[in-house]
Amino acid sequence: MNLEQILSTIREEVSPLTGQGRVADYIPELSSQDPGKFGMAIETLSGESYSVGDAGDKFTIQSISKVLTLSLAFSQLGDKLWNRMGVEPTGNPFNSLVQLEYEKGKPRNPLVNAGALVVSDILISRTAYALKDLLQFVNELAGEEIVFNQEVARSEKEWGYINRAMVNFMKGHDNIENPTEQVLDMYYHQCSIEMNCVQLARTFLYLANHGINPRNGEKILSRSQSKRLMSLMLTCGLYDEAGEFAFRVGLPGKSGVGGGIVAIIPGKMSLAVWSPGLNDHGNSLAGIMALELFTTKTGLSIF
Ligand code: GLU
Repeated sequence: MNLEQILSTIREEVSPLTGQGRVADYIPELSSQDPGKFGMAIETLSGESYSVGDAGDKFTIQSISKVLTLSLAFSQLGDKLWNRMGVEPTGNPFNSLVQLEYEKGKPRNPLVNAGALVVSDILISRTAYALKDLLQFVNELAGEEIVFNQEVARSEKEWGYINRAMVNFMKGHDNIENPTEQVLDMYYHQCSIEMNCVQLARTFLYLANHGINPRNGEKILSRSQSKRLMSLMLTCGLYDEAGEFAFRVGLPGKSGVGGGIVAIIPGKMSLAVWSPGLNDHGNSLAGIMALELFTTKTGLSIF
């Protein structure tokens, strides 16, 4: 299978979609992204790398970071994590408050904002250096130095009224231990992690490798934890479009409003795609199409 060739065919086939969709505009720093950009990268467990288009351009990974912080919290807390949040899809937008009220401040799952905010709270409770530890964790996975985009983090904090409401609401239900501002600071910094597609695909290779960092053999998650985490990605990783994504692509994935999506083929490879034009669910329009084309053309998926 010539993956190089497949990537360049995908790039051509998605070109009518690039430039379409809406770039995230809830903060000025994201609204200036060019919707015409498209990049895609593949990293395999056998050490091959493939990329196409703007795969070297950096963008903020936003909600994709939820998988990284969840990995840290799951490895530290084990199944106690599930006392603080559930594992069911929501069918609601990523920052919906409505379900939280019915469910008394216990988020449905760790991949919507409410759940990720509780995960941030958990990481802060364990160490005074949660942000530094997160960056070090990401650096080790990426194999190079990765940084926060401080401008994006600052702007999100300034505009993030709904996330602030969510943290306060959960605090009112005793599901947040730390001060609201501290939790938001952690969360917005993780969202502002900046990477390109090649770095992103490399960073997520530990999931393709069932929880072991292929770079140094370090165990991040047990095989069972890695299975559970990817199951959550499959059922909850694309906001209220997770069903459609599973149907079209057939892989565990996670998207972010920066226009990035990662997807994992367990035992084989990780894929990262980026195109900032989003559909109505906040997912990259060309990104989803590219992943759908990839699994269709290669026959590689979990099914
Ligand atoms: N920083 C964004 C927020 O919490 C992330 C949203 C996303 O990528 O889904 O509003």
